Amino acid sequence: MTRGTWKRRIAMTAVATAAATALAVPVGAQAATAGGASTATATASAAAAEAVDYATWQQDCRTLMDQALPALKQRIAAAKPGEKQAIVFDIDNTTLESDFGFSYPAPANKPVLEVAKYAQEHGVSLFFVTARPGIISGVTDYNLKTVGYKVSGLYVRGFLDLFKDVAAYKTAQRVTIESKGYTIIANIGNSATDLSGGHAETTYKLPDYNGQLS
Ligand SMILES: [Mg+2]
Repeated sequence: MTRGTWKRRIAMTAVATAAATALAVPVGAQAATAGGASTATATASAAAAEAVDYATWQQDCRTLMDQALPALKQRIAAAKPGEKQAIVFDIDNTTLESDFGFSYPAPANKPVLEVAKYAQEHGVSLFFVTARPGIISGVTDYNLKTVGYKVSGLYVRGFLDLFKDVAAYKTAQRVTIESKGYTIIANIGNSATDLSGGHAETTYKLPDYNGQLS
């Protein structure tokens, strides 16, 4: 399997977008919008992912979701009258198998899909908050729906968000979801930046093996 190709494509898209935008920005402002840092990070992630064994990753995800599901079942059953329950998910290496072989649509991360399906079949709205750039919003939305997720909302990074702290960006999206009247009963991701910042009753941290998986 060729791992990380999808991530590299995203990085190339992001850089191309930044370059195209830079053409429309005054020369003096271009230094502040240089996209080199994201390329280096993505390349490092793709290379490091070679070391992560797929079977181990799946087993580790399964172990965590086996703990999460009974707790979520209890919380879903305990919904207060009129409560709009939501779960927030990261996408890459959380809901989709992003770094384990390129295909489009990317397969679902099965242990997470099983939890998501229980939730969506019991009235819980699923929101997806990703660091992916807005330019691939359409293909991402299609991918999630094709593999079985019911998408109530997809939040991707706008151009200005690309230059903000990822954790702060993701927290701001959860605040937005709450402002629409939802109670976020769980936030599920594989990076610390998916989960810090509060605005969720519980968090579930899937493995990233010290940052090797994006
Ligand atoms: Mg991720």
